[in-house]
Amino acid sequence: VIEMGQPEHSVITTCAYCGVGCGFKAEMKGSEVVRMVPWKDGKANHGHSCVKGRFAWGYATHQDRVISPMIREKITDPWREVSWDEAIEYSAKRLKEVQEKYGRKSIGGITSSRCTNEEVYVVQKLIRAAFGNNNVDTCARVCHSPTGYGLKETLGTSAGTQAFDSVLEADVIMIIGSNPSDAHPVFASQMKRRLRQGAKLIIIDPRAIELVQTPHIRADYHLPLKPGTNVAMVNALAHVIVSEGLEQKDYINERCDLEAYEAWREFVLREENSPENVAEITGVPAEDIRAAARLYASAHDGKEGRAAIYYGLGVTEHSQGSTMVMGMANLAMATGNIGFEGAGVNPMRGQNNVQGSCDMGSFPHEFPGYRHVSDDATRSLFEQDWGVKLDNEPGLRIPGMFDAAVDGSYKAMYIQGEDVAQSDPNTHHVEAALGNLDCLIVQDLFLNETARFAHIFLPGTSFLEKDGTFINAERRTSRVRKAMSPKNGPDGQGMDEWEITCRIARAMGYDMQYNEASEIMDEIARLTPSFAGISFDKLDQKGSIQWPCNDEAPEGTVTMHVGGFVRGKGNFVVTEFVPTKEKVTRRFPLLLTTGRILSQYNVGAQTRRTENNVWHEEDVLEIHPHDAEERNIADGDLVSLESRMGETSLRAHISERMQPGVVYTTFHMPETGANVVTTELSDWATNCPEYKVTAVQVRHTNKR
Ligand code: SF4
Repeated sequence: VIEMGQPEHSVITTCAYCGVGCGFKAEMKGSEVVRMVPWKDGKANHGHSCVKGRFAWGYATHQDRVISPMIREKITDPWREVSWDEAIEYSAKRLKEVQEKYGRKSIGGITSSRCTNEEVYVVQKLIRAAFGNNNVDTCARVCHSPTGYGLKETLGTSAGTQAFDSVLEADVIMIIGSNPSDAHPVFASQMKRRLRQGAKLIIIDPRAIELVQTPHIRADYHLPLKPGTNVAMVNALAHVIVSEGLEQKDYINERCDLEAYEAWREFVLREENSPENVAEITGVPAEDIRAAARLYASAHDGKEGRAAIYYGLGVTEHSQGSTMVMGMANLAMATGNIGFEGAGVNPMRGQNNVQGSCDMGSFPHEFPGYRHVSDDATRSLFEQDWGVKLDNEPGLRIPGMFDAAVDGSYKAMYIQGEDVAQSDPNTHHVEAALGNLDCLIVQDLFLNETARFAHIFLPGTSFLEKDGTFINAERRTSRVRKAMSPKNGPDGQGMDEWEITCRIARAMGYDMQYNEASEIMDEIARLTPSFAGISFDKLDQKGSIQWPCNDEAPEGTVTMHVGGFVRGKGNFVVTEFVPTKEKVTRRFPLLLTTGRILSQYNVGAQTRRTENNVWHEEDVLEIHPHDAEERNIADGDLVSLESRMGETSLRAHISERMQPGVVYTTFHMPETGANVVTTELSDWATNCPEYKVTAVQVRHTNKR
C-alpha cells in the first residue's frame, strides 16, 4: 500500500475499470486522494478489490493529463491552448461548417463506456437533437454488441440474467471465452469460492486460462477449441443434450416458443452437429464434448436449474459473435437454466460502463432503453420531451463511419473518451479515416493516439472528478461521486464533461441545460421504463439498484426472466456454423487470439500512468513450445508478428498454456499496437470486429 498521510474524510464511489463495478471509499486528505479502500457494503465486491482499483487514483493527477482545451486549424499545426469559451465556440463553428458543406448526416460521434451514464446520455442527445441525425455509436460496438443483439433476440433483454452473488448457488459453472482471473478478478474470487465448495467447472477456451488448474481448483473439462469454432462447439453440446433426451421438457413447454424449439431441435440433431463431426472442426475429442454436455445438463433438480454460463469477448469478438450468444441462450433454455439463482447466461463486461452506455441509447438504431428509432411512438415521446424533430433512420455504426470517412462523405466526429486509433481493428484503415476528416474533436484525459488526428482537444475528467452513475455487468446502477473538483481547465476552471457537451449543443443552437448530473438521471428515468424508479436520492439510500426498477419492481431486479421471459416465450434460434473467412495459409500458418492481463486495463492509458504499474511493461506473444522450436525462438526473443493487414514486433513467451498452431497476445501497449495485425472482418449482425481470429506468421527477429 502506498501511504501518503492520514485521511481526513472519505467519498464512496465506484471503480472505473472493469465491469465488476467494485464500490470504493476514496480516502482524502484535503483535496487529494491518499488511499482507495474497497467498500465493505459494495454489493458487487463485498469489501474486496483487485490491484487496478486499489491504486486507481494514480493517473488522475499524472503529469500527462491535458488541463487546457486546445485547438488547431490543421493537424500539422501546433496545438494552441485556449479558454473553454473559445474551444466550445470553435467546436460548434467547425461542426456547423461541415454540415453546411456536406449535409446534415456528414457528422456524428462515439460515446465512451468509461464515462458515466449521464455523460453518455447527453452525447447521444447532442447527436440526435443538435446534429439532427443518428450517427452515434459506442465503443461497446467493438466488444459486447453481439450480447445486446443475441440476448434480446432469444430472451428479450440486452443484458445478463444474474447478480454476481448468484454464482454462489451454481452447481456447474461453464466459462466460455473469458478469463475472469485477469479480466474480472474480484468476481473470479467469488467464483473460486464456489468452486472450492465443490461446484463443477467446464472451460471452453483455446488457451489454458488460470482456472483450468490453480491451487485447489481443477476444471472438470477444458475444451481447448480452435479459435473461430465456438458455434460448432455450442451446437455439438446441444446435439448431445437433445439426442440423449437431457432437455427439461416441462420448462420448454411452459416458457418457450414451441415452433421455434422444434425447428432448433431438428437442426441440432443433424449429423453435422454431432460431436464426432465437430471434433474435426474444433480439435476437441468427441468424448470430452459429450461429457461436458452431460455435466452441464445434469445441474437441475427437476424444478430449477443450477448451471451458469459466464462468457467474455472470446465469444463476442467473432464473425459469428451474435450467433454464439444465441447458441448459449438456446442451451440454457433447453436445459431449464434461466430464471433461477445459480443459473443464467452472463456476459462479463470488459469496461466499467459497457452495460450503461448501451442502455443510454448509444447505438445508431436505438433510443435509450433499446427502442428502435423507427418506432413512431418512441420517437414522438423523445421529440416532445426534447422539443425537436428526430430522424427516423438508423445512423452509421463505427465501421461505417470509418468507411464513409475514407470515401469522403463523413467529415466530422466528436469522440468521447475512446482511443479508436489504438483500440479498433485494422489500424491503418482507422488512421486513413481519421486523417480524412475536416473536423475531429477528441475529449479525453490524455493526448492519445487518436488525438494525433484531432483539430480540437477537450480535456476530460477522471472518475474521481465526476458525479453520476455506472452500470456493471449485473445491471447494477451505482453512484460515482466527486472526490475532487474537475481538473480540466485553465486556472482551475474545470468543467463537468456533461456540461462540455451541453455547451456545444447550445453553441450549435439547441438548448440543452442541466444544473446537476442528477437532473440528467431524472430525465433518463422519465423517458426509459426500465429506469423509471431510479434516482440519485434512491441510489444514495440503497447503495445501488439493478434495473429494471419501476412500479413493477420498485426495489430493482436481481434475477431476470423469473417465471417467464421478458420477450414472452423464449425464442430458440437456429445457429448454423459458418466458418470465418480468416484462414490459415502457408504464408500465415498460425492463428492469433488476444486477451488481457491483471495489472493492465485496455489500451493502458490509465494503468500505464499509475504508480503500482511495475509488473508488466510490455505485451508479449505466447507461443507453444513446438511452434517456437520450429521457428528457432527462445523465451524472451524478439519476434515479428505479421498478418495480411500489417506487422508488429514483440517479445516471445513460450507457454504450455497455448495449443500448437495458436498464439496469443494482449493489447495494452501502444508500442506493440496489436491491432495493426487484426483483420477487417466482423460479426454479421452487429459489426463487432473479429479480434479473436487472425492468421499470422511469427518469425525470430532482432529488432523492433
Ligand atoms: Fe473491481 Fe474490476 Fe476495479 Fe478490479 S478493476 S477493483 S475487479 S471493478
